[in-house]
Amino acid sequence: MRALRRFSVRAQLPAALAPLQDLATNLRWTWHGPTQDLFAAVDEAAWRSTGGDPVRLLGEVGPARLAELAADDRFVERVREVSEDLRTYLSEPRWYQGRQDLPAGIGYFSMEFGVSEVLPNYSGGLGILAGDHLKAASDLGVPLIAVGLLYRSGYFRQSLSLDGWQQEQYPSLDPQGLPLHLLTGSDGAPLLVHVALPEGRVLRARIWVASVGRVPLLLLDADIEDNDADLRHITDRLYGGDSEHRIRQEILVGIGGVRAVRAYCGVTGHAAPEVFHTNEGHAGFLGLERMRELVTTAGLDVDQALAAVRAGTVFTTHTPVPAGIDRFPIGLVEHYFSADLVPGIPTDRVLALGREPDPDMFNMAHMGLRLAQRSNGVSQLHGEVSRGMFSSLWGGFDAPEVPIGSVTNGVHGPTWTAREMVGLTAGAAAAGAGPELFGVSDSLLWEVRGTLRARLVSEVRRRVRASWLDRGASEPELGWTERVFDPNVLTIGFARRVPTYKRLTLMLRDQERLRSMLLDPERPVQLVIAGKSHPADDSGKRLIQEMVRFADDPAVRHRIVFLPDYDMSMARYLYWGCDVWLNNPLRPLEACGTSGMKSALNGGLNLSVRDGWWDELYDGRNGWAIPTADGVDDPDRRDDIEAAALYDLMSTQVAPLFYDRGADGVPDRWTALVRHTLATLSPKVQASRMVTDYVTDWYTPAARAARRVAADAFAGAKELAEFRARLDAAWPSVRVAEVDVSGAADTPVLGAPMTVRATVDLGGLSASDVLVQAVVGRADESDELSGAVVSPMATVGSAGDTQTFEATVALPHAGVLGYTVRVLPAHELLASPVELGKVVLPA
Ligand SMILES: *Cc1c(COP(=O)(O)O)cnc(C)c1O
Repeated sequence: MRALRRFSVRAQLPAALAPLQDLATNLRWTWHGPTQDLFAAVDEAAWRSTGGDPVRLLGEVGPARLAELAADDRFVERVREVSEDLRTYLSEPRWYQGRQDLPAGIGYFSMEFGVSEVLPNYSGGLGILAGDHLKAASDLGVPLIAVGLLYRSGYFRQSLSLDGWQQEQYPSLDPQGLPLHLLTGSDGAPLLVHVALPEGRVLRARIWVASVGRVPLLLLDADIEDNDADLRHITDRLYGGDSEHRIRQEILVGIGGVRAVRAYCGVTGHAAPEVFHTNEGHAGFLGLERMRELVTTAGLDVDQALAAVRAGTVFTTHTPVPAGIDRFPIGLVEHYFSADLVPGIPTDRVLALGREPDPDMFNMAHMGLRLAQRSNGVSQLHGEVSRGMFSSLWGGFDAPEVPIGSVTNGVHGPTWTAREMVGLTAGAAAAGAGPELFGVSDSLLWEVRGTLRARLVSEVRRRVRASWLDRGASEPELGWTERVFDPNVLTIGFARRVPTYKRLTLMLRDQERLRSMLLDPERPVQLVIAGKSHPADDSGKRLIQEMVRFADDPAVRHRIVFLPDYDMSMARYLYWGCDVWLNNPLRPLEACGTSGMKSALNGGLNLSVRDGWWDELYDGRNGWAIPTADGVDDPDRRDDIEAAALYDLMSTQVAPLFYDRGADGVPDRWTALVRHTLATLSPKVQASRMVTDYVTDWYTPAARAARRVAADAFAGAKELAEFRARLDAAWPSVRVAEVDVSGAADTPVLGAPMTVRATVDLGGLSASDVLVQAVVGRADESDELSGAVVSPMATVGSAGDTQTFEATVALPHAGVLGYTVRVLPAHELLASPVELGKVVLPA
């Protein structure tokens, strides 16, 4: 008989073991070895059978075992110590507490969070990044409140049909069996957020709280009895359903999310966020709710509220793939926002925030950029690509000046580094060894790499076998799976989601060539591959099928495997055990990529196209760069060229180096690269580095700006709104009337002073409302400037509405130069003069 529903009952713990409850529900255990060991010691078998899930483990251990442990003084003492350690971790001052003038609170909104496989609320890189952000924030003591949705089925579980077609399952999760608790009011009843929908309907959601170390993660859940049946499905799945489903989810996470933060702060006394971080466009409606708050409670008008909200908002864009940008039909947005969703914010103002050149579409990334005074991409290259991609929002400026910066993503070291590797590097650091030596011998380093590779090999065998059973094979047919992979063979990993641009099957361009590398008698290679395709993406599923069919061939199946159901629980074995991490996206479509970073933390060497993070951190000694055919437009030819380059690198560089052994069996030229990777890359790819960058360069300036606009009953916001209105009125009449230069001789020399003078009609603005700049740089045939030096010009006189401005510039280059003058808005509350996208150049 099948159960109608499942639910979990927690065991009653003996008093001496009571702290296990908190240790199980605070997700800090996911990156704390001693806590994991403690749970494993409760019941080794249950720890394994639950896949290392403390909440489920406590539900499975019998009362007899619990009584036995409660009577074991040494175990009880261990529980006390680990619990004390958690208490200290949660309350002691950390990095953040030692600094001044930082934001009192930060709201971090994301559509997905990948904290642990026990809370499967993520689909891929974006979610894992968000999870790593929370963990690093916790370690640093950053007062973050995170907000997302709790999906009844999370993302799907992947399996394969016999012919290699992706199958999706959506097992439903019982929140009671997850490390969550409900946010309740003083009367003990769950607090609900309410969101108004069209036709007078109301959507309600309860708020689950996950504790990620010191950081609360609020997850909204619409599957409650108070909701109409159709509304209960809103939080059914991550990235499932049509546009209508999606906009309802995004309304809930953004607008409901801000309300959840308010409720949480009200109940717990947590400091209200001064800064809101929108992690990708999905959660962008949060800005509209914060505007509504200011309009209804602080008496601001819409423009003033916009100025106030922008000051305290940071927006991070994550994709340079146009199809990856979240957009809605404009009518759909209009439908939802004409209801009482954000009273006081007129619908046409909402629509204007997401406007794009296509008048029928509403663009969540454009709204994100317009609602945030500070925006960034997630690697240096992605910052540059984003400045080009979104330059239409700052018309009149060249892409390099578009105010989108970058913070390169990072990964949470304590989560992703194998314990053996932590032990090795920590031990060496304590012994004061030089960075690339670690005081560790080559043979010890190689031994650890071998241990991790061997662990991966057993995991591969286990999973290959399980997958074949699932695909319909019978036990007696599967003897060969015990001989899949070899713990001594060069192991290459490729695992990530399967959108087309990541080119899962690039390695199959020349199947004969790949086969010969796999089967090379002296220097064989083995490949472990994994990844899910979005359920609606049949082209991705075809790539998986092509890969599976290749790997099913009995001639190669011991050297290449596709493992279904890529998730965090599988990923860690791959990052620990692979010698080489392969990444071959279509440059520059990989915004950052983080899996290679996780491999590097474990001494894996990256073999990657110079895209995302690898473009800035590849240094010639930490792995290999696959050359790209950037200018080649024919995609087939480009794939051929890049695949050939990949095969060449693998067979002429990677494999020979791996198999070049000394008398002790150690490949010392290889271990030199491993050492260099561990020493130089590890610090740079840490999420703690990423979060400190955000705190220092983004959150703190945003909080400062938010305080300045809010002070004195929002005097700054009012002034900024008034300034923008004045600019809008005057700007069409602003004109550069005349430009002259003097001082430079007929054939001037490099460095000689040149005085630029401009007469500007300010159209009624005052000189302090504008910034007039002289721009001098190299000029090409069509007068385009490059390498330009921009100098502010000072007022030197006025006549009526015109003002004269002047600057003296040292000629910056030899060769053919050009100059011009431009007028920009200037206000001390703007983050930069480019921010408003307004500029006047000489006619
Ligand atoms: C790190 C990680 C990703 C993201 O990998 P990318 O290289 O950024 O695509 C996806 N899924 C899992 C399970 C991960 O651990």
